[in-house]
Amino acid sequence: MRVIHDEILVLKESPLYEYRTTNGYFPVIGEGSHDAKIMFVGEAPGRNEAKTGKPFCGAAGKVLDKLLEHVGILRDSIYITNIVKDRPPENRDPTPREIEVYGPFLDRQIEIMKPRVIVALGRYAMGYIMNKFDLGLELEPIGKAHGKAYASSTSYGDIDIVTLYHPCVAVYNPNNLDKLKKDFEILKKYV
Ligand code: URA
Repeated sequence: MRVIHDEILVLKESPLYEYRTTNGYFPVIGEGSHDAKIMFVGEAPGRNEAKTGKPFCGAAGKVLDKLLEHVGILRDSIYITNIVKDRPPENRDPTPREIEVYGPFLDRQIEIMKPRVIVALGRYAMGYIMNKFDLGLELEPIGKAHGKAYASSTSYGDIDIVTLYHPCVAVYNPNNLDKLKKDFEILKKYV
């Protein structure tokens, strides 16, 4: 992971490199146990994350913490990362080019960690991960796919892909928290 960090730090071909360096932001590589069986993949760092270099440490992170607690998962026991490792300006959606630039780093993290379960948070993570694991034909809008698990296989064995709403949906509307909690219960079987 150190090598990945060092490579991203000097990734001048990234469309987000200049924005990061002019703002004094950090790339956000990931955090958690390198032995984790469960890897969570979000979209891209927000402002708090880019200021600290830690994933999900702002408002969406507080929601994620509540959801993990709800299903009895300790944050230390999982690994949390994003597809895009630098903050897009004004928290806009990542562009296809940004996903293309950062995706191979996520691929390498998966190769290193060999997770048994990948939890894709939101439609961008879902699209990337499902296509990567040959589940592209089963892709549905996140409004339909949320709370589902899909079986696939990797070079190191079987893997489950779980697709969930991004925690930010409960930042924008706290009434969504109960829906998210219910969806997260699918993770209990992996704990
Ligand atoms: N949203 C994400 O997708 N990732 C983070 O790290 C923070 C907010």
